[in-house]
Amino acid sequence: MFKALVMTKDADSGKASAAIEELNEDQLPDGEVTVAVDYSTVNYKDGLCLSAKGGGLVRNYPHVPGIDFAGTVEASSDDRYKSGDKVVLTGWRVGEAHWGGYAQKARVKADWLVPLPDGLDAREAMAVGTAGFTAMLAVMALEDHGLKPGQGPVLVTGAAGGVGSVATAILGHLGYEVAAVTGRPETSDYLKSLGATQIVPRNELNETVKRPLESENWAGCVDAVGGDMLARVLGQMKYGASVAAVGLAGGAALPATVIPFLLRGVNLLGINSVMQPFENRQRAWQRIATDLPMDKLEAMVQPATLSDLPKLGADILAGQVKGRVVVDVN
Ligand code: NDP
Repeated sequence: MFKALVMTKDADSGKASAAIEELNEDQLPDGEVTVAVDYSTVNYKDGLCLSAKGGGLVRNYPHVPGIDFAGTVEASSDDRYKSGDKVVLTGWRVGEAHWGGYAQKARVKADWLVPLPDGLDAREAMAVGTAGFTAMLAVMALEDHGLKPGQGPVLVTGAAGGVGSVATAILGHLGYEVAAVTGRPETSDYLKSLGATQIVPRNELNETVKRPLESENWAGCVDAVGGDMLARVLGQMKYGASVAAVGLAGGAALPATVIPFLLRGVNLLGINSVMQPFENRQRAWQRIATDLPMDKLEAMVQPATLSDLPKLGADILAGQVKGRVVVDVN
C-alpha cells in the first residue's frame, strides 16, 4: 500500500476534489517502470489539474496529479533502467492524462524518464522541476540564437515565479545582466539575491501596445507571462534579439504587430517542455547540474507535503507562489 493525493469527481456537481488515500500497487496504471517517488513539486499546470474542473487538462477521474517527480526505480521491464537508478520525469502529460507524482509510487513509460545527472539529487531536481527545466530550455534556445553575455540586459518576466526565478539564477550565474519583471515589489531583494541586476515593475510593461517599436532595451527575454506584456516586450528588443515564449501567466493572446520582426529582425522562439526529445532533456538536465548554483536554488525552495497541495494549487493560479515548492511525498 502507498499514499497518494487522489482527485475524485462528484457526480452531482461535476466538481473534482482532492483527498489523501491509501492505494494498492495494482491500481497503478500500465507502464514499464515503477518508481518510488521521493519528491514532486507545484507548477502552474499543477494548479490547473488540482482545480475543481481540472483546468481542461484532466479528463478521467479518479486521478493522481503531479506533472513531475524525482525518485528511485523500484522495478523495470525496460533494459535502460534497473532497480536503484535515480530518475526524474517531466512532461509527456504525466499528471494530466496519466497518473503523476503526487504519490509515493508512480508507474510510467521508460521513454519518459531521464537519469538524474551527477551532482543533482532528487530534492534538488524537484526544486528545479518542470518550471526550472523549462527555464533552462529557454536559456539554451536564446544561446542557440546568438545570445552571449555582454550584449545588454536580458529580461525575465514573471520573475518571482518558478520559471522566472530559475531563469534569473541561471542567467545571473552565466554572467548576464538580468532585468527582472515583477508585480510583487516585495520580492526585489529575493530577485537580486538570485542574480537580478535590475527590477522592472510589472505595470511598466503590461499596458497594451501603443507604438510597435520602442527603445531597443533588451538583448534577450525569457517570457513566462505572454499577453500584453509579451506584445510590449517584442517592440523593445534590440536588433536581431530573441524572446523565448514560455508561458501565459498574463494571458494567451498576443496583441502585437509584426513590425518588430520585420524592422528589427526580432525572433520569437516557442518553448515546449512536454515533448522534448530525450537528447535535449538530458542536455538540459546536465546544464542545470552545472549552471544553476545550488545555494541560489535552495533560497527559492518552499517545502510542502501532500496535504498542502490543494491550497498551493489555488495559490499558484493566483500568482501567489514565490520561487519553487518542493513536495516531500513521504
Ligand atoms: P508561477 O505562477 O510560479 O509564475 C508565474 C509568474 O508570472 C508569477 O509569479 C507572477 O510573477 C507573474 N504573473 C502572474 N500573473 C500575472 C499577470 N496577470 N500579469 C503579469 N504577470 C503575472 O508559474 P510557473 O513559473 O510555474 O509558470 C509560468 C508560466 O509558464 C505558466 O503560464 C506556465 O503554464 C508556463 N509553463 C510553460 C511550460 C512550457 O513547456 N512552455 C512549462 C512550464 C511552465 P511576479 O509576481 O514576479 O510578477
